[in-house]
Amino acid sequence: MLYPQAVQGLSIPIQQDVPLAPYTTFRIGGPARFFCEISSEADLFEAVEFARNRSLPTFVLGGGSNLLVSDSGFDGLVLHIAIDQPLHEIATEHSIDYTVPAGTDWNSFVLLVCEQGISGIECLAGIPGSVGGTPVQNVGAYGQEVADTIANVRAFDLETNDFVDLPHKQCGFAYRRSIFNTTHRNRYIVTAVTFRLDRTAKPNLTYADLKRHFDDLTPTPIDVYHAVRSIRHSKGMLIVEGEADSRSAGSFFKNPIVPKSLLLQIATTLNIPDDKIPHWSADKGQVKLPAAWLLEQAGFSKGFALGQAGVSSRHTLALINRGNATAADIAALRDTIQQQVRARFDIQLEQEPVQLGF
Ligand SMILES: Cc1cc2nc3c(=O)[nH]c(=O)nc-3n(C[C@H](O)[C@H](O)[C@H](O)COP(=O)(O)OP(=O)(O)OC[C@H]3O[C@@H](n4cnc5c(N)ncnc54)[C@H](O)[C@@H]3O)c2cc1C
Repeated sequence: MLYPQAVQGLSIPIQQDVPLAPYTTFRIGGPARFFCEISSEADLFEAVEFARNRSLPTFVLGGGSNLLVSDSGFDGLVLHIAIDQPLHEIATEHSIDYTVPAGTDWNSFVLLVCEQGISGIECLAGIPGSVGGTPVQNVGAYGQEVADTIANVRAFDLETNDFVDLPHKQCGFAYRRSIFNTTHRNRYIVTAVTFRLDRTAKPNLTYADLKRHFDDLTPTPIDVYHAVRSIRHSKGMLIVEGEADSRSAGSFFKNPIVPKSLLLQIATTLNIPDDKIPHWSADKGQVKLPAAWLLEQAGFSKGFALGQAGVSSRHTLALINRGNATAADIAALRDTIQQQVRARFDIQLEQEPVQLGF
């Protein structure tokens, strides 16, 4: 067994052989060869130089809630973003700008905003991870996407070795996408995000579960915050210490966007009318299908187990660590699911969590 050791002679704390599993919500993964806690923007210069001088790859770690780390770990430097100084608020007549350090716990920020009676991110309560992680895959839930409120992303640019401010338009936000996980993957280290929230906005109740929950009532943002957390808990989508369904990375597959003709083909395969297949309209006449529904149709229902890996007992889309799963166990279940869905519906499901060290 390896034990973490500090690298001597540096002004920032770099450790060697640090197990990564405790830094992930899956609780899976081998060690990082080097690991550094980044607690201020200034730390980044020395940490990045340390990696460059040794030709080491770097990986930016937030809350580890959208991450699958390999059993052999990562042969490079992990930069754990722990910048969490107090946030800055600037209020105007119509809006409030919150500039929030990247290492801040996302849910704590949502709570603070909701307690102030401000709407705009209340449906994103209970999503685990850091503020800096939210723009990366443009997190979304229950009818809201974080991109709708992001005004600016401050980041360290590994190409120019300097800090940049990226206004909303330059972030390339789309469904579970941004420049940070596509065209400029591994280029930027997010250090702060500015959210602009409309002071007059009302809570978003477009999502069916929320509509049902509140019926004819007019909830405040904090009411919605608590409702979302409670609905999430019932679906195993809230991290609750000790609950097996919590050892996951949330939804493991993205909802696929496919041509309408494929929807009709699936209807024929299943011998049902196409309006009985749950779907939403997407861009360019395409349709978005719920990946959870595809999994169930392919034979993977809640509670399905393959060794130590499994499907959550409360949500078909979350793959879980049933106790002692390895990354290889999760990958084997993923491959089995992808293969069965492909064979049955000709759809290649895309994995949502980021992989490290594979
Ligand atoms: C129970 C559960 C429920 C979830 N529900 C949802 C949901 O409803 N909607 C949703 O969209 N997601 C959901 N997720 C996924 C996850 O919580 C989000 O994607 C979250 O924003 C990831 O943030 P993180 O800080 O944990 O990032 P990490 O998992 O640490 O990293 C994920 C990726 O972001 C990059 N990254 C992280 N921080 C930074 C930074 N500061 N700068 C640059 N890159 C960075 C990493 O390099 C990596 O590529 C859920 C996960 C779990 C476990």
